[in-house]
Amino acid sequence: MTRSQVVSSSSQGLPTDTTAVICLADAAAGASPLHPLNAKLRLYLLQQLRAAEDNPAVTSLILTGGGPNFSAGADLTEFASLIPAAATTVPTPSDVGHHHPHAAPSLIDVVTAIEACRKPIVAAIDGVCLGGGCELALACHARVATARARLGLPEVHVGVIPGAGGTQRLPKLVGLRQALPMILQGSTVSAASALRMGLLDAIAPEATADSLRTTARQWAAYGEVLPTIRRTGDLQRPESPAEAHALLHVAELSLPPLGSHGMRAAIQALRASGTPIQHGMRRSPQGRARRHVFFATRRAQKVWSPVSNAVPTAGPPHGLWSKDDAQSAVPVAVVGAGTMGSGIALVLLQAGFHVTLVDVHAPALAKGMEFLKRTLASMVQRRQLKPTQLTALEAKLRATSNLQELSQCLLVVEAVVEKLIVKQSIFATLDKVTPPTALLLSNTSTLDIDAMASAVSSRRRGLFAGWHFFSPAHRMKLVEIVRGSATSDDTTALLQALTKQIGKIGVVVGNCDGFCGNRMLKPYSAETVLLLTETQTTVAAQDYAIRGVYGMALGPFEMADLAGNDVGYNIRVERQWARRARDDPLPPNRPARYTELPDVMISDYGRLGQKVGKGWYDYDSNIGKGRKPLPSSEMDALIRRYLAPKPSPALVAAEIIERVLYPLINEGFKCLEESIVRQPSDIDVVYVYGYGWPVWRGGPMYAADHEIGLPRLLRTLRELSKQFPTTEHYVPSALLVECVARKVTVEEYYQKNYHTASTGSAMLSKL
Ligand code: NAD
Repeated sequence: MTRSQVVSSSSQGLPTDTTAVICLADAAAGASPLHPLNAKLRLYLLQQLRAAEDNPAVTSLILTGGGPNFSAGADLTEFASLIPAAATTVPTPSDVGHHHPHAAPSLIDVVTAIEACRKPIVAAIDGVCLGGGCELALACHARVATARARLGLPEVHVGVIPGAGGTQRLPKLVGLRQALPMILQGSTVSAASALRMGLLDAIAPEATADSLRTTARQWAAYGEVLPTIRRTGDLQRPESPAEAHALLHVAELSLPPLGSHGMRAAIQALRASGTPIQHGMRRSPQGRARRHVFFATRRAQKVWSPVSNAVPTAGPPHGLWSKDDAQSAVPVAVVGAGTMGSGIALVLLQAGFHVTLVDVHAPALAKGMEFLKRTLASMVQRRQLKPTQLTALEAKLRATSNLQELSQCLLVVEAVVEKLIVKQSIFATLDKVTPPTALLLSNTSTLDIDAMASAVSSRRRGLFAGWHFFSPAHRMKLVEIVRGSATSDDTTALLQALTKQIGKIGVVVGNCDGFCGNRMLKPYSAETVLLLTETQTTVAAQDYAIRGVYGMALGPFEMADLAGNDVGYNIRVERQWARRARDDPLPPNRPARYTELPDVMISDYGRLGQKVGKGWYDYDSNIGKGRKPLPSSEMDALIRRYLAPKPSPALVAAEIIERVLYPLINEGFKCLEESIVRQPSDIDVVYVYGYGWPVWRGGPMYAADHEIGLPRLLRTLRELSKQFPTTEHYVPSALLVECVARKVTVEEYYQKNYHTASTGSAMLSKL
């Protein structure tokens, strides 16, 4: 490609006005002109990219800084807070964003999406283009710059290596000889040198924003007429393997003996740059896990189709399905103005719907409305919302205690107390009041969707489903879309589209106790409590093992205190496992291995969790805003009371992880066996976005395949099952046994379609 070719092809009337421009400055409003690639910016890039990719009117894209600079790379303030003390590999700036898994995509996610984009993307570079900024440019399909631009990968100066593909794409683009000094010494290059070495495709005739944009448009137009997109990751490194080996060997020998840890890691990564990009990136297990989550998330959101996985040609016909302005007039309702209902109402309001919030209790309704108004006002204060937008949103919000007022609503989400009879009576009324095409949805966490659907007329049952949000609903990304036995495919597809539209990640799951996420959590929670009474392992030791060592967002007891310990207690009472009072007769139904500790802490001590200032931990409103877990002497005494006469010694972190996470994963296999989810990666999405599973471990099923290994998982479960013969959750899943027998990972088992071969049809018909 030469510049003259580009200019002449664009002058032949190519559609340059259909080029979308993504500007880093737009997301970084008011922040540094160096456009540090922080969580907000990465999220913005991914959203803009997806929007442009989905927009049929857009034929090509330009990625530009929109200011004096392109980007100076990672936000080092973010980076500094992230490196775990026990990090075993050299961290990379792309680790940023994965400390809090649901917070933002990583830089790897962003560059992967850029490179994979089906429409040509041109990087238009002015000023500095360094580190992560340069990695963004490398992932684009062409690069143009002003003469004053400077490019480089100076990560080595801060003790890290380029982690978002820089060590793979730069050598593929310019060769190892030129890439080595840039990566090992962190040297930067001028635009003229970059053009000579092939890092840039063109320099704009003048060093102005206009000239840069014109040049970028010409290259974008050129990209549109090329038969295939030139992806850097697909290029062959120019050196032969022998040449590359010699160059890297010499480079390694010339490193200083001390203080060169980062450089050695960089050489290690450079060795892989002769292989396809997927292999090179795979050299880092954490990077590989993250890419898995990235693609798993996309796969999970693919429009639901039971057998072929095919995407329907048109969206389902429904008044809700419209992206035009009419959308904003669509009336919807949320019944129940408590914790979940008010959060869901906020999400729907922000997505543009007219929302009616309903609650039978006037104080609860007032509290819910107050939450909505307070949250919106604080968004104005934080400049996330303009005052005029606030007024417009408030005008779309109504409150009522009367279900009869929902006669126009096309969607109603029920989020009242977890009582089947209450929910059934609400749905029976809604069935009569709402238009016949309205979707009726329940946010229940545990109740049977079919039992609720039985309250509505048979022609409505196709429009009935679970829409299970996670707390706090306006923050948590995950929503389980629960199919009842009568839920139609159109309703499922429509809910997937709506879930995406409100900015959430929807995973379609089948109807069972706890659906996917909470069902898998049950053995985990049960086992963490049993460890307290059967061994000398403490609450704090378990939280440390799961959060501090394994990397979950929260430890089991921290999570329980946050969610409320009464939730589980009420379920155990309902199941007739727990006693309401100490002198109640012993319930006959409880499992053989059971401790009353978590029941008594509620019934006798009222330790519901953070909301009352005491749970597994104590909380003090003067310390850490009342959210910091503090040791509790009352709990210590209670645990001693329930401790087995001869408890086993305290477990170390690795043993704790096996005891509590393996049964959770085992339950994931059982969900697959029963077709509660379509594929193993759906479970990973549920756990990363709904339960804070560390994204760099890829989710429970990915960890089973790639970190633990299925044979070891099976062996350990068998040992535990022998030790605790009455414990159902240690009995290995038949699917796990089969995967090990076939010597495949569970991911491969599904890729090879073994699941549809034998039990397949029965399994598929259930979901
Ligand atoms: P909550 O107690 O905070 O709120 C329930 C609300 O429903 C209350 O305001 C109550 O006044 C209202 N209500 C009761 N009966 C009603 C009726 N007949 N008509 C209208 N309103 C009525 O409960 P929550 O935590 O928001 O949970 C609501 C639902 O969401 C439950 O089904 C729960 O299982 C589910 N859920 C909860 C969580 C969570 O973490 N809290 C997470 C996911 C799902």
